[in-house]
Amino acid sequence: MKKSVAILLRELPGVDELLRSSLLSALMPRYSRKVIKDAARAVLERLRTDIIDKKTGVPVLELEEVARMVVGTLEEFSGAGLTKVINGTGTILHTNLGRALLAEEAAKAAYVAALNPVDLEMDITTGQRLERDSAAESIIRSLTGAEAACVVNNNAAAVLLVLNTLADGKEVVVSRGELIEIGGSFRLPDIIEKSGCILKEVGTTNRTHAYDYSDAVTDSTALFFKAHKSNYEVVGFTASVGLKELVKIGADKGLFVVEDLGAGALIDMREYGLPFEPVVAKRLEAGADIVTFSGDKLLGGPQSGIIAGKRELVDKIRRNPLKRALRCDKMTLAALESTLKLYMNTAELCTRLPVLRVMTRPVEEITSNAHKAVLLLQERLGTGFTVEAQKTGPGAVNGSVVGGGSLPGHELPTVVVKISHVERSAKSLYLSFLNSSPPILGRIKDGCFLLDMRTVNEPEDLLPDM
Ligand SMILES: *Cc1c(COP(=O)(O)O)cnc(C)c1O
Repeated sequence: MKKSVAILLRELPGVDELLRSSLLSALMPRYSRKVIKDAARAVLERLRTDIIDKKTGVPVLELEEVARMVVGTLEEFSGAGLTKVINGTGTILHTNLGRALLAEEAAKAAYVAALNPVDLEMDITTGQRLERDSAAESIIRSLTGAEAACVVNNNAAAVLLVLNTLADGKEVVVSRGELIEIGGSFRLPDIIEKSGCILKEVGTTNRTHAYDYSDAVTDSTALFFKAHKSNYEVVGFTASVGLKELVKIGADKGLFVVEDLGAGALIDMREYGLPFEPVVAKRLEAGADIVTFSGDKLLGGPQSGIIAGKRELVDKIRRNPLKRALRCDKMTLAALESTLKLYMNTAELCTRLPVLRVMTRPVEEITSNAHKAVLLLQERLGTGFTVEAQKTGPGAVNGSVVGGGSLPGHELPTVVVKISHVERSAKSLYLSFLNSSPPILGRIKDGCFLLDMRTVNEPEDLLPDM
């Protein structure tokens, strides 16, 4: 016979009884009594409503079952927060996974800054006040030849701050071929507008000429703006105006030239067998008055945006009240300074800077890791699964990519571990790996589930607990 609502309600445990249960007492050091009590009340309230609403399937609940529900409610919160993920996508600077991994030194510097007072805005030899980014500035100056530099939250903030300082209420001339959108909602036309400037598009999508720029200049023109086409290429019948030429037109017209370099390589990537990417020092040498670039793309540091160039302009940028709203915290600056210092010894960079280490990981090492991963996975997954290593290349699976809008259209050779199952779809395997602990993110290509070994450090990382 079914129990009446009144009896079911009466049989629910009380809050105090729940708090005395062994399950909830065990939670005491981690959660305060009040937090556990509130969670217990919430669970009991929910159960009471269910009983009164005569929800089907409301069983008679033992004390321990109710206690377990309270634990579940609390664990929901503690499960929230950033979780370590294994990157098997082959995208090195994966924006959704937090882009560049920091060098050991940089992570340690951030850790020290987090736990201690630091000389963030003070010269410790004189006790005088300093700009918080002055240490980063000296290293950036020595690495790029810039007269001055400052650091903000990200490159989008850098572009916003530069434009707002130098061109508020005025026209900014940009080639139609460079009106970029970067993933994650960075759209140059929108940033220009939000900076208080008026966008003056010149040329066409595929062709822009020197006269397009000079003809566009009016009394209200503030500057010429160039943007690195980070994530696409225009090929075929094309024409664009190089930086040097634009600087010349700018000088004729008395206008500044600002360039958004996107990834902003500090060194020539070709020296590491990688494709060419504009080097910050070279762009300043070519005459750009100001350049901006990200700290967490090719540079390999924490999320940040760097503004470098002419002293007079950087000083003006620094005095903009928006700088205060866009400034970096001490942990970011500590990690950035430490990352920049690694560039003082480029011979060691490949081993010490994770971004460069992964980009230059030898195919032999990737192959050997892939074979180890195949054996480990085959054993763990058991029957029904096929696990095999496959080299990428023309006619085969796609290679790894740098991502984060760097080195577009360029693939790095790699080896993928291909996993299939007699009955299960690639999508279901993808989700199983993603729901393992820690989550393993792979990619699906042509109906196959793949794990790209270039972005996986150890084959053992791929053993899913599922
Ligand atoms: C990536 C990129 C940005 C945005 O930089 P964030 O650091 O992500 O804010 C802006 N412009 C270009 C050309 C880029 O490549």
